[in-house]
Order: sequence, then structure tokens, then C-alpha cells
Amino acid sequence: MSRISCIFCKIINKELPAELLYEDDLVAAFRDIKPIAPVHVLVVPKEHVESVADLKKEHEILVGRLIMAAKKIAEQLGISRGGYKLLLRVGDDGGQEVPHIHLHLLGGAKLSENIRPI
Ligand code: AMP
Ligand code: ZN
Repeated sequence: MSRISCIFCKIINKELPAELLYEDDLVAAFRDIKPIAPVHVLVVPKEHVESVADLKKEHEILVGRLIMAAKKIAEQLGISRGGYKLLLRVGDDGGQEVPHIHLHLLGGAKLSENIRPI
């Protein structure tokens, strides 16, 4: 998918609505439209990179920023003490549906560990 038709690029460019929680020069974060936890936020790079498999050496700072932004948002939303999960799905087997990197921030409750082959 090109960045032109990418839903996350459209959210970043404010062409599609979303509940934006955080934004800086490199990343943005918004609530997941179909939350699977009491807190479910997606942290995305502003640059259209389809998946972790496409990352290059030049993206190292960006990848660090994704995690630092998730940490800040967790603090802002009051789930830092209780803990949370950070999830990156990669490609088909990883279950990635939107081809624009997104770090899931999941928390607000104790979450199950349900990772096994289908
Ligand atoms: P993944 O399966 O890791 O690719 O996750 C894609 C996530 O994007 C899912 O949790 C969807 O609910 C979420 N999503 C899809 N469209 C939107 C949207 N327009 N706004 C917010 N979240 C979305
Ligand atoms: Zn995109």
C-alpha cells in the first residue's frame, strides 16, 4: 500500500479523524478504533514505513522515539505503575493488518498471554 491510500498516513495528515493523544516531530499517537484493552493506543511514525521488516539503519532514532512516546503516554494515562504491553505485529504471521508501523500500547487491566500457533 502506498502512503497516499494509507489510513494511518491520513490520520497523521488530519485527513481522517482520530483521537490524537500525542504528537512530536517524528511520531503521533491515537486511540485504537477497536480497543482490545481498557487503554489501547497506537503509536506510529510520521514517515510511512510499512513494517519493522522495512526498517533501515537510518530509522534507529525513530524506533527509539516510538517506545519513548509510548512510555510518556502510559504515564499520562495513569497506567505506568500497573504496567502495560507494547506490541508490534510484523507481516502476515505476525497478524499485521495495517501496513504502516504501529506500536500498540495496551493496558488498564491485567492482560492474557495468548500467543500460540493458530
Ligand atoms: P494490526 O493488526 O497490528 O495491524 O493492528 C491494526 C490496528 O489498527 C487494529 O487494532 C485496528 O483496530 C486499528 N485501526 C484500524 N483503523 C483504524 C482507525 N481508522 N483509527 C484507529 N485505529 C484503527
Ligand atoms: Zn502510512
